[in-house]
Amino acid sequence: MSLFVLLIGVQGAGKGEQARFITQKYGIPQLSTGDLFRAMKTRTDDFARRIQQLMAEGKLIDDETTCEVVRERLALDDAQGGVIFDGFPRTPAQADWLAGYLQSNGHALNAVILLDLDLYSAFKRAYGRVSAADGKTYNYYFNRGDVQFEFVPHETKLFPPRLKATLDGQELNRRPDDASADAVIKRIDTFVAETAPLVDYYKAAGTLHRIDAAGSIADVSAQIDAILSR
Ligand code: AMP
Repeated sequence: MSLFVLLIGVQGAGKGEQARFITQKYGIPQLSTGDLFRAMKTRTDDFARRIQQLMAEGKLIDDETTCEVVRERLALDDAQGGVIFDGFPRTPAQADWLAGYLQSNGHALNAVILLDLDLYSAFKRAYGRVSAADGKTYNYYFNRGDVQFEFVPHETKLFPPRLKATLDGQELNRRPDDASADAVIKRIDTFVAETAPLVDYYKAAGTLHRIDAAGSIADVSAQIDAILSR
């Protein structure tokens, strides 16, 4: 029995966390096209360089290239029992290609799971999150713990104040792409623009499962498990 699962969710919806859960429980690897493209960073050939350029500009890689990279990944031994697709497909053309590819290999997508999170919560999960050196995470909006949060005026006063977090005198980390409200909003905008057609695509195909991602990690995992174990 193979298991091909597609996870769709905005940044902050908990896709990474849930993919780890599925991998542990069902023993299938995650296939992230973003990770596959990022892994080409060390290559200096023209092909890899063109991909880096497109990614840096925040543009999508063309469908043909993307599908070829996925085809190569799916041919590896560890993908024979299925995979969790993350960040692929991103366009209806990629979705069509995937359906055809799986079918010609005697498979099908077993479940398409939308981790649905309202966009303001998505913003707050990303923009508010900080992490300590021991890996513990906190959030300005949801989970402050003993962390001291303050908005520090920008030195030039030309830019808005920046959020700073300290715990026991140590400044906590924010991912650079979370620290800028503008960058967080851009990522959310891109998700909305790219993903809406895909959600419609799988809704029309009747394979879309919607899960409310505002719940706890354990609660969302339980709902995913209920879908996959059917
Ligand atoms: P991600 O980590 O999924 O956000 O992907 C990072 C970047 O890789 C995207 O902004 C695109 O440039 C590229 N990328 C990842 N997946 C795809 C895809 N399915 N189709 C086209 N481009 C992709």
